[in-house]
Amino acid sequence: MAKINVTRSSMPGFEEYCDEIRELWDSRWLTNAGVKHQQFGRQLEEYLNIPNVTLYTNGHLALEEAIAALDLPRGAEVITTPFTFVSTTNAIIRNGLVPVFCDVNDSDYTMDVAKIEALICERTAAILPVHVYGNLCAVDQIQQIAEKHGLKVIYDAAHAFGVTKNGVSAACFGDISMFSFHATKVFNTIEGGALCYSDDGLRKKLEQRRNFGLDGKDGCAYPGGNAKMSEFQAAMGICNLRHLQGEIAKRKAAVEAYRSRLSGVAGIRLCPEQEGVSSNYAYFPVVFDGYKYNRDEVFEHLKAQDIIARKYFYPLTSCFESCAGLPAAGAGKTPVAESIAEKILTMPLYADLTVADVNRICDIILE
Ligand SMILES: *Cc1c(COP(=O)(O)O)cnc(C)c1O
Repeated sequence: MAKINVTRSSMPGFEEYCDEIRELWDSRWLTNAGVKHQQFGRQLEEYLNIPNVTLYTNGHLALEEAIAALDLPRGAEVITTPFTFVSTTNAIIRNGLVPVFCDVNDSDYTMDVAKIEALICERTAAILPVHVYGNLCAVDQIQQIAEKHGLKVIYDAAHAFGVTKNGVSAACFGDISMFSFHATKVFNTIEGGALCYSDDGLRKKLEQRRNFGLDGKDGCAYPGGNAKMSEFQAAMGICNLRHLQGEIAKRKAAVEAYRSRLSGVAGIRLCPEQEGVSSNYAYFPVVFDGYKYNRDEVFEHLKAQDIIARKYFYPLTSCFESCAGLPAAGAGKTPVAESIAEKILTMPLYADLTVADVNRICDIILE
């Protein structure tokens, strides 16, 4: 039996990509906002129905730049979630800000909105929630809280490309949303990322900061770094965008197969489908809570059959406490996140995962 990995990158046909990059051999314009970059940016603005998309060489730098562009006071606190990839917290700390961890809810593992206000103080400057697994946060309530307290909202939407709520794309919530186009995500540009925002006033600043802060007049407007997306990444994005709906449809079929086998089994919990939300089927997390096997046992049973699931996400709050000296972080303060992290397993899921593969995986889990 062939090995099944947790994920497998979506790719266009080889010839399709070659056709897309052919003109780069004539122009010799390989990066710095060339034709592919411009075309891809416009296509995303249209697809996401958002006035501004700024492209980056990866999602992490995009998130760092989003935080930096909002000019939050140095040392200010940013309320975020511990139940995410480490990139989210690192982006806060690397901006000289302090992450304050808000626990997640026990249903879709996004930030528990009932616990946000208790964490707000005079040092709080922003909220940075994550649409974890592609599950959308309670965006309306978060917006209300932010407006009431004068806070910025930046979404880590790394998992939510292609997700819409009542027809509105995940790009449209908060002040800025970040997508990752890493090879392992639903939609990829090999490495890549984007910031999406409605405030036209941010565009020039983000574009300058992305390119060393250069102002185009031999001067430097910001102490910017280099976070530009290349023409080859943009070309990959143009190709993959053509196939996105098909890839999501294939993922959906795999998820439906998982759901039909695993829902209603005692001791197994699945994320509920969110009302009004059209999913991108990015991940299929399963919580083993009182099942005949615990999470680690299921992981080992699958691994013995060359099927690789992943134990994520796991909060790293205590690690930050020691490595970044953060008084606000701390184990024990986000019990739901910590408890779920012990019980959750993210199942293999990618467009080419067949229903037969899903059945084989479920047979092992249910045996
Ligand atoms: C993938 C990911 C990132 C980082 O994106 P890269 O494109 O890999 O830099 C940030 N946050 C979350 C939640 C992610 O899953």
